[in-house]
Order: sequence, then structure tokens, then C-alpha cells
Amino acid sequence: MPKQVELHDLHKHFGKLEVLQGIDLTVERGEVVCVIGPSGSGKSTLLRCVNLLEKPTRGKIVVDDFDLTHRDANLDLARRSIGMVFQQFNLFPHMTVLENVTVAQRKVLKRGAAEAERTALDQLEKVGVAEKAAQYPSKLSGGQQQRVAIARALAMEPDLMLFDEPTSALDPELVGEVLRVMRRLADEGMTMIVVTHEMAFAKEVADRVIFMDGGVIVEQGPPREVLEDPRTDRAKSFLQRVL
Ligand code: ADP
Ligand code: MG
Repeated sequence: MPKQVELHDLHKHFGKLEVLQGIDLTVERGEVVCVIGPSGSGKSTLLRCVNLLEKPTRGKIVVDDFDLTHRDANLDLARRSIGMVFQQFNLFPHMTVLENVTVAQRKVLKRGAAEAERTALDQLEKVGVAEKAAQYPSKLSGGQQQRVAIARALAMEPDLMLFDEPTSALDPELVGEVLRVMRRLADEGMTMIVVTHEMAFAKEVADRVIFMDGGVIVEQGPPREVLEDPRTDRAKSFLQRVL
């Protein structure tokens, strides 16, 4: 399988705090990687570095053969192919659902109104919220808002999707509808890096699970190995706490 994401010796400092302490990671095209680990271990920072929302202090990030850390890299161009979904949905509250899903298509991809709306409605249909197109986000449940956020990312036709605890802000009964959308995306072959506490999802959907602690990858492998038979004490004690 061709490589899609390569991280080489990635470091990120915030002042004296070294949040990422040398991450090496390769993700293949179509692979689903779930990242688990305690709060503060650097999971969000890692994801935010992959699309350069955070600038790494040191190290190299290559996505689709683009060296994003090269000083001449066209980050806007590279970022277009990377979709990101956050814990807090981050929809624009003053825009309807449809406007939320068309605005970046219009502004970034320069699509015309008709094409942007058609693409938006297709994506909203896929995540099961097309009937909410004319509503404002505040009228939707958290699960519906998160599905809109996924549709918004997919409307840009990314070839890599980053998810940062996409279900952590949801009431428990709404988690399943979002995970189902993500699972289908995985089945369709999307390359995904998913930070999650949903161990059942990780076990069933991930090709590989990565356990991070203290800014390093402590352990990684097939979900059954890492989740059911971890080698390190750090992973064991984390999993005992969350399972
Ligand atoms: P996780 O997602 O695993 O909980 P984060 O990547 O959010 O971890 O954070 C790792 C550490 O980096 C934490 O100690 C956090 O407080 C710190 N951190 C994250 N972002 C910033 C920032 N912008 N400025 C300073 N410290 C930060
Ligand atoms: Mg986080």
C-alpha cells in the first residue's frame, strides 16, 4: 500500500513543555488508525500538527508526497486534501446547515453556488441530515451537528480525515449515529486518524491502534493486541482505567 502520511521525528514544544517528543508514524492509504492515551498525552497536538494547525518545533510531515514542513510548502493547497472533525463540532452558528457545508467549497474551491449546494446536499444525505439543510445548528442535536461537521469536511473531497474525539461531547445515546457514519467512511476506504475513547469502535474499525503517553508512541499494533493484550505497563494501566 502506498504511504499517505509520514511523520519523522516530530517534536512540538509549548515554551518549556515538550508535548511531542519524537513521533515516527506512517499511515498507508485507506488505513484507519485509532489513537488512544491519557488526557494531556499529546493526541490533539499530534493531529493538529498533521494538518499544520500547529507548527511542529522539529521533524518532518509528509502527506501525499507533499513535505508540509518544507519552508516553501503551499499549506493551503495541502490542507485542502485533509478534513478535520473536532470534539466541539465548530459549526458556524450564524449560518444554516447548508451554508455551513457550502461556504468553504465556494471560498476555497471556488465552486459555483449550484455545484456547491448539490455536493452539500449529497453529503448531508449520506450522513442522514439532509432534511435539516435549512435549519441553524442550534436547532440540531449534538449528534446531528457532528454529522453536519463530517459532511462539511467531506464536501471538500479530502483524501485524509482527522477526527479528534468526535463523540466525546455527545450524550451517550447520540454516540452511535456518529460512529456509524465514521464506520461507513472507513468501509469506503477513507484514510482516517481517529483520536477516540470508544474502545469498541477502535477494536472493530481500526486497522491499527496507537497508544500515546507523555508525547511518545508507547505501543502500537493490531487492535486486538494493543487493546486486549498490551505489552507495556503504561498501556495496561491506562486500559484498566478506561475499560
Ligand atoms: P491530549 O489531546 O492527549 O489530551 P493535548 O495535545 O491537547 O493532549 O495536550 C498535551 C499537552 O500540551 C497538555 O499538557 C496541554 O496543556 C499542552 N498544550 C496543548 N496545546 C497547548 C498550547 N496551545 N499552549 C500551551 N500548552 C498546550
Ligand atoms: Mg485532546
